[in-house]
Amino acid sequence: MSKLIKVLNDLTINKIAAGEVVEGPYSVIKELIENAIDAKATNITVEIKEGGKKYIRISDNGAGIYHDDIEVAFMRHATSKIIDLEDLDTISTLGFRGEALASIASVSHVEIVTKPKDQNYGISVNIVGGKILSKKEVGCPDGTTIIVKNLFFNTPARLKFMKSPQAETTKISEMLSRLSLSKPDIVFKYINNNNIMFTTPGNNNLGQTILSILDKDLFKNLIPLNESTNDITIRGFISQPTYVRGNRSYEILFVNNRYIKSKLIYKAIEDAYKEKLPINKFPICILNIEICPRHIDVNVHPAKTEVKFHNDTDIYNLIYNAVINKLSEKTTLSKLTFENKQFNNKSSNDVDNTRKSEDYLDTSFNENKSTYTTYNNNKPIETQISLKGVHNTNEFREIKDMNIESAVTEKNFDDSHQEITQKNFLDNLLYNYRVVGQLFNTYIILEKNLSMYLIDQHAAHEKLVFNQMLQEFNNGSIVTQSLLEPKILELAHEDFLVVTQHIDRFQKLGFKMECFGHNTIIIREVPLIMGVPRDYSFLIELLDQLKSENYSDTYFNETIIRKSCREAIKANDRLNISEITKLIDDLSSLEPPLTCPHGRPIILSLSKYEIEKSFKRIQ
Ligand code: ADP
Ligand code: MG
Repeated sequence: MSKLIKVLNDLTINKIAAGEVVEGPYSVIKELIENAIDAKATNITVEIKEGGKKYIRISDNGAGIYHDDIEVAFMRHATSKIIDLEDLDTISTLGFRGEALASIASVSHVEIVTKPKDQNYGISVNIVGGKILSKKEVGCPDGTTIIVKNLFFNTPARLKFMKSPQAETTKISEMLSRLSLSKPDIVFKYINNNNIMFTTPGNNNLGQTILSILDKDLFKNLIPLNESTNDITIRGFISQPTYVRGNRSYEILFVNNRYIKSKLIYKAIEDAYKEKLPINKFPICILNIEICPRHIDVNVHPAKTEVKFHNDTDIYNLIYNAVINKLSEKTTLSKLTFENKQFNNKSSNDVDNTRKSEDYLDTSFNENKSTYTTYNNNKPIETQISLKGVHNTNEFREIKDMNIESAVTEKNFDDSHQEITQKNFLDNLLYNYRVVGQLFNTYIILEKNLSMYLIDQHAAHEKLVFNQMLQEFNNGSIVTQSLLEPKILELAHEDFLVVTQHIDRFQKLGFKMECFGHNTIIIREVPLIMGVPRDYSFLIELLDQLKSENYSDTYFNETIIRKSCREAIKANDRLNISEITKLIDDLSSLEPPLTCPHGRPIILSLSKYEIEKSFKRIQ
């Protein structure tokens, strides 16, 4: 009988392992950049051609590799970064598994030229499919350059899975911008098909680094955030709630300068924005969390993008509170602006231009109707096509187009127009205001300090009811109604357990009830919310909420109260002047944010300056 089971040779093992580490060009680049960062480089240049499929070059000015180490570096599980398992607890480098070079070299053509500072000569090595073909001394600058060509040339199955050069480039660019943001102290230069895509300043200024990579409008809408406890420091930027994105791709997180994804932290951030953002819109954040490596575990997955925190709740609360506090302190009012816009129904090219320039406002374009749908508000608003930056007067008709913009930190606006925060606005709301009137039975028009303000009275009312209920809830003074006949409910066992566990919460919310055995509860009183008794289905809603939320009490309470006052608000209502004054009085007692419990703005502002500019009274 012949032997069927054989031990695989090293080359084969590396090729198989490469499947884990090397998913495609972007992961090659990620690993090589991480090596450069670990080698303490201050300058890293990345060059790709055709999405990195054919050519990747990474140059750094870091420590370099010594002559005697070069072959070992390309061996599997060869690393200079840890010696034994205990070192993993205090790991501060990005790499430590010693897999990347071996894996990359086993599935591509690699050329490496490297020289430590204290050596007179560098060394150049050629490796194909994991085999060293040549090795010679060369003259070269300090640091390391690695060129990777023909990725997956010997693994046809993987070659097939690579996407188009464009798709790969997109992935690479995204990852590169994340990595560059993680290290504002390093100069990153990114070259794609001989074009420089970006160069970061490397001066350790995160703001300037963001500006060199992401767009200016995005940057204008960021608020710095710095928060620390004894063990944890959070540093970076979060966005004004008036600036939103359609997905999570700009929730950028680093832990100890390592780019990571964390459901826990996304949730903490999004919960903090909850009341302030329209549904299905996401904030921007670029945050680095510094935490003692002993309190986390990064060795969850070979790509090392996941982190486990030893204390989830602490991290959640810290981030949630930091974001909430910063937003209430720094949020400014949304502005209502008149803009000069020009449009043309014919030219499809130009329409495309517009789409790009407006993309950041989360505007989607409807080709058939030639309209935009803006989601700055919870409801889509359709606006006529407007082309920024297109000046072809023959074909274009000028229109004045009213558009809600979140131009919250517009610097070139007007020197005399001071940017005021919502907090400041509310503190001074009752001084020198004049009610101009009511518009469409829905909006209150105010004049104050050379600005006009529009207040959405229903959004304002909803917010006030919400706050009142939250207060009643916190004082345990929610109004209840006794049932004529107590209601007996038999629940699924798992639901019954949740109710038993949280019975205090239900009581506090106005459900006076007791648990019997056999999965049965008996309800004697129900909450009366805005005069409407809430029943069994509300209880079930709460129950489901409790099952899914286990992080923050505050968040839970706010969520349920938001739910409960949603239906309690009346529609169109003509208000008389004393009712308006009362509403404004009540508003002045609010804390920011000035958004209704579902994220819609309550107040928009328009300055006299802008009005005069639009009427061309001033330039
Ligand atoms: P790891 O980064 O997990 O240690 P790698 O396979 O990525 O494993 O790299 C193996 C070793 O090669 C590293 O531990 C390091 O000593 C060396 N090395 C790799 N890239 C560089 C570089 N750009 N500059 C200096 N040394 C490097
Ligand atoms: Mg590495």
